[in-house]
Formats: sequence, C-alpha cells, structure tokens
Amino acid sequence: MNYKTIIEPFRIKMVEAIRMTSEDEREKLLKKAKHNLFLLKAEDVIIDLLTDSGTAAMSSQQWAGMMIGDESYAGAKSWKKMETTIKDLTGYKHVLPTHQGRAAERILYGCMGGKGKIFISNTHFDTTRANIEFSNAEAIDCPTEIGKKPSSKHPFKGNMNISKLISTINKRGKENIAGIILTVTNNSGGGQPVSMKNAKEVSRVCKKYNIPLIIDACRIAENAYFIKNREKEYQSYTYKKIAQKMFDLADGCTMSAKKDGIVNMGGFLALNSDKLTEKCRNELIITEGFITYGGISGRDMEAISTGLQEVFEPDYLQYRIASTTYLGERLTKMGVPIMLPVGGHAVYIDAKALYSHIPVDQFPGQSLACNLYLKGGIRASEIGSVMFGKKGPKGELIPASMELVRLAIPRRVYTQSHVDYVIEVFQEIMKNRKKAKGIKIVKEPKFLRHFTSHFKFI
Ligand SMILES: *Cc1c(COP(=O)(O)O)cnc(C)c1O
Repeated sequence: MNYKTIIEPFRIKMVEAIRMTSEDEREKLLKKAKHNLFLLKAEDVIIDLLTDSGTAAMSSQQWAGMMIGDESYAGAKSWKKMETTIKDLTGYKHVLPTHQGRAAERILYGCMGGKGKIFISNTHFDTTRANIEFSNAEAIDCPTEIGKKPSSKHPFKGNMNISKLISTINKRGKENIAGIILTVTNNSGGGQPVSMKNAKEVSRVCKKYNIPLIIDACRIAENAYFIKNREKEYQSYTYKKIAQKMFDLADGCTMSAKKDGIVNMGGFLALNSDKLTEKCRNELIITEGFITYGGISGRDMEAISTGLQEVFEPDYLQYRIASTTYLGERLTKMGVPIMLPVGGHAVYIDAKALYSHIPVDQFPGQSLACNLYLKGGIRASEIGSVMFGKKGPKGELIPASMELVRLAIPRRVYTQSHVDYVIEVFQEIMKNRKKAKGIKIVKEPKFLRHFTSHFKFI
C-alpha cells in the first residue's frame, strides 16, 4: 500500500523549548525592535523562518561525529573524511575547506576576477555578487524571462537564459569573461531549479568559448530532486548520481554547507585546475587557515561529511520538498498570492498582490513581515524594496522589481503541526488584509539597511 501521508523520516531525541508569547506581548516586543525583525531576540520568536542557512537540526550520526572530530592542525582524520566525501561527490581534483560559502567565493572570485573581468550567472546570489564586485569585476545576471514572472508556472524557472548568455559573451568579448556561474537551485530567483538540459547547454557554451564553469552548489541535492521528478531522462537515476552528473559538466564549485550540508557552519571550494588551486590555496592560508582545515574545526568537518551523504537520501529529500510544497499549496488554496511553482527551500509571498492597497513606497513586504510576527510570532524576511530599493535623485524610492516575503524552511527543524500553525496565522492575515497599514522608515544606515533600519506603521 502506498500511503499518501508523507511523514517526517526521523524521530526526535532532543528538543528545544519554544517560548510562547501573546499578541499583546509581541506588540511591545516589535515596538522595542523598531519593527525590524532582525532586531528581535530569537527567543521571542515562535516559528523562525528567517533563513534556511545554518539553521538545520543535525542527526544523531552527525552529533556522534562531533565526538570523534580530529582537531590536529595538519592532516587530520576528519579532514580526510570530508575531502574523500567531497571528491567522491563532485569528482573534482582539489578540495579547499572554508568557514562558509562566502569565504570560498571571496577566495575563488578574488583569484579569477579583478578589474575588467566579467562573470555571468543565471542569478548571482548576493554574497557572490558582492565578492565579485569587491574584486572590481562585474557580475551580470541572465535569468530566463519566465523566471522573472512570479505567477507563471514552469518546471525549471531557475534556468540560465542561453541566448542572452551567448549574446552577452559576444558583446563583451569572450576574453573578458572570467567565469560562468550556475547557481543551483537559483536562490535569489525564488529557490527555483535548473534542469540538466540547461546545465548541459551552459557547459557546451563554456567549452566552445573556453570559459570556466563554476557551480554554486548550495542546494544541489534539492535541485537533483526536481530533476529526477521533472526531467524524464533522469527518473531512474539516484539523487547523488544526478548531482555527480551536474558537477561533471563544470570545472569547479563553491558550496555553503549551511544549506545542503545540513550543518550550522562550514563550506568549501573544489576545483580541477592545479594552477588556480595553487593560487586559491595561498589565499586560503592567509585568511582562513591551513589547507587541511580552512576555517572549520575537525568536529564540524565530521558533521559536513555525514550531512553531505544524508542530504541525498530519498526519504529525506522527499520529505524536504514535500513539506515546502505543502505550505505553498495550502497558502495558494486560501488565495494567498505566492511565487509559483513552489521552490525547494522557501515559499515566497507576493506582498504587493496581497496588500494591493499599500503603495510600494510604504513597503508592503515589511508590513506583512511585521503582521506575521504580531499575529503569530512568525519571523520571515522581506525581500523587496527595503532590501533592494534604491534612492532616486530627489530622495524618492526606486522600488525593487518585486515585493516578496520569504518563508524559509530550516531543515529537519519543524514538524507538520508547526506548518499547520503558520497556515492558520495566514488565515488571520487574509481576514485582515484590507486593514493592513503601510510602513515608513524612521532611521536608516547607508548600507544593507534591512539589517538595522528602524520602522513604524503609518
Ligand atoms: C547562502 C548562499 C551563499 C553564501 O553562503 P554563506 O555560507 O552564507 O556564506 C552563496 N550562494 C548561495 C546560492 C547561497 O544560498
């Protein structure tokens, strides 16, 4: 019998209490945090959907590994284990451990980039773009047209726009293109997957023009799930085999293990080129640590090695994607406008459509994020004009292209009843949607204002 209920494929043997709060209490707490959810104490949050990065629950196998971590400075056993796991998974010749994804990016793109150089990606994640621009190189996004439309359905909305990729290479000159980066899944594009067909086409273009291809592999296991279930040719492949096939198409990868490594801290960089590796290793030693630990302790290398194997287990991946889809489908049924189809690690609410009476310069996304906290103690993140809006010459807002609120799902942390609670809170949000108020900024810093600005309801 094939039962339709998909259960969490784990038992819970350690718990962390959630402190429950009342709406009155949350009103005071939010005021104290200046209506900025980053300024709340985590213990004052009931369901924390701020990010899926570094927030996972580790397995008993991973915790067991913590006890046998080899903390030797050079050549530790735990390093060998992590290196073997990553070499087996990626097939790349060299592995460099880093404390998280952005450190791998800084080292790699610092070595590959520089003034006059250009990188092209389906969408650069914000730390990727920042590290490229920090090296004085340029980052160009080439997402597909359909990938930019929140409500249009397509199985692989994270794909690279191949014709735009080729025209950009020709226009800017292939000698100026330092690298092409394929982000799987496409995080900034809504956690949408990239197909193997698209990855193969990107790889073909890279080979033709002799440009290195790098995979941003943060969520490659989740991407493999979508390929197996949406691309006929790969139905019979294991998830790991699909990931291996994708790594095969490229020359190297960066990964934040805080995502599909199912750990709280860690990352790596893996490459085939001896010459580039040597350059990167020098950087690694100067800023992260010796080549056999980078910025990671031995026990964490144990946990990464185990996490990278657990993440490809079919029961885990099915549960993972099913739980995100469940939330998205229930919200859609209630009439909550979301980005479709639902991606791998998060559900994105279209706040501009939900609060259509709030103009964009009154930040409908920030208003929704605040109301989710007030009504249910839920913490989500605004991905709209607070985060990406710019100022025009007269101080007016140049809005972001979309006003989204992201509900990111931590791995193995919440059960279905937690998700049902979130859905119930949304019923309350929907009931009061017409009464929702806009938000104004009362104090803001020069850079990355979403982290520290102060806000007020209008
Ligand atoms: C999180 C993330 C990074 C950066 O990793 P950190 O560990 O946060 O430094 C890079 N790319 C993508 C797609 C990510 O999601």
